[in-house]
Amino acid sequence: MEFHKKIAAGAKENIETIEPNNKASILDLKKEHFEDQVLLAKFDYNVPLTKDKEITDPRRITETIPTINYSFEQGARSIVIMSHLGRPKGKYSEKDSLEPIAKELQKHLPNKKVVFIPMVEHHEDGMSLSISPDYQTYLKHTVPSLLKNPQKDTVYIIENVRFDAREEKNSSEIALEMAKTCPQGYAAYINDAFSAAHRGHASNFAITDVFKAEGLPVVSGLLINKELYYSSSILKTAPRRFGAIIGGAKVSSKLDALTNIIDKVDVLIIGGGMAYTFLKARGENIGKSLVEENLLETAKEIMRKAEEKEVDILLPIDNVCGLEFSNDTEISVVEQIPDKMIGLDIGPKTIELYSNEIKELKTVIWNGPMGAFEMPNFAAGTNAIAKALADSDCLSVVGGGDSASAVEQSGHVDKISYISTGGGAFLEILEGKKLDAIEALDDRSKYQQEKNNSQQDEQEEKEQEESSESEDKKEEK
Ligand code: AMP
Repeated sequence: MEFHKKIAAGAKENIETIEPNNKASILDLKKEHFEDQVLLAKFDYNVPLTKDKEITDPRRITETIPTINYSFEQGARSIVIMSHLGRPKGKYSEKDSLEPIAKELQKHLPNKKVVFIPMVEHHEDGMSLSISPDYQTYLKHTVPSLLKNPQKDTVYIIENVRFDAREEKNSSEIALEMAKTCPQGYAAYINDAFSAAHRGHASNFAITDVFKAEGLPVVSGLLINKELYYSSSILKTAPRRFGAIIGGAKVSSKLDALTNIIDKVDVLIIGGGMAYTFLKARGENIGKSLVEENLLETAKEIMRKAEEKEVDILLPIDNVCGLEFSNDTEISVVEQIPDKMIGLDIGPKTIELYSNEIKELKTVIWNGPMGAFEMPNFAAGTNAIAKALADSDCLSVVGGGDSASAVEQSGHVDKISYISTGGGAFLEILEGKKLDAIEALDDRSKYQQEKNNSQQDEQEEKEQEESSESEDKKEEK
């Protein structure tokens, strides 16, 4: 197995092998931050739920288990978790309650107790009893009364932070209330909500000031560590040849990402609806395919820049077209798209071209499907690219959201090095943007300094002991 593939496989098994970024993580904390302490954590448990509250994809929950386990292994007494779910718009709504999340988390932590702290109690006779009239009362009274005696080996989940409008307003008032929910005080704040890190809200942004003002650590968990390794670190240190596969509906939603990565990659492979704006800009006929007329000049500019930087751009050379945007439409595979047709997937020659290129790549970042993959007749291109990545030895990273479900649907998910839990957050990293909640974490150098100082102290103590021992021996003689 090649070196970079080993990093990918090893990282899955042993998360601590991951190269640290410049932000502090729980790996930088000392024993005293954990021992018998209560920690406050922000996770993103915004998982897809059916109407019957079945969780269809628990990855965002399971990916936080290493952080929870590590904290307990280091001696933490309890962990209090905050998260959002859905869009409740600042008010309690039963459908967005985190209760089913707590049940799911319990399944993945068989040796720990997961306690959900409700705002409303549901009785078997169908009656509901409101325990807290509003989220502020809940944070100021209900939660602290339960956390008066935090139990050992227990994870507490507090209700959806978006049940209070102050959360999305990044209010420092609610941040203070959150930080005070444990009467004995929290020893540290851990943010592991990568997929929410591009939003500066109270539970991941304003709250960091409250902890910092108290001189308490503000660090990431192991998931954010891993996510940053597979996004921002990879962009800087990718084994070459390095390619980005960018697809999806529109150029406009990926424009900043395209502009940023063109400086970093050796090849840009473009598919999906956005490819047609590029093809039209190159003077090709695209029929009725998706196009953003206002971005034709921008597409030309990107292609010019690529040429200047000697970055190859691959565009579809054939297409699977339909007369309408429907799975049941009449289908043709064509190189030149007729006037009445819509390009809905890359064709077989393009699949071959892209797959051959992937064989040459050592690192690939992929965001956005190659076609309208939700319709089975237009999923072949996306599935074939997933297969090409699965068959290759390259380090392959897939951005979340639609791209993750496309890979999942293709059945090759296990052979991809890493699938991000973040959609918007992953894209913003590709765009070269700094994520608010990540920027708000303590710098790692602060802990390095402390570590160096304590190592120096230890060394000095040792030297002193040794010299007084040798003095004693001299005297004995
Ligand atoms: P995005 O969220 O930008 O990654 O876009 C994903 C969406 O792009 C999916 O819902 C696809 O159905 C859609 N898509 C991909 N290729 C095409 C295409 N050729 N025409 C129209 N929509 C497409």
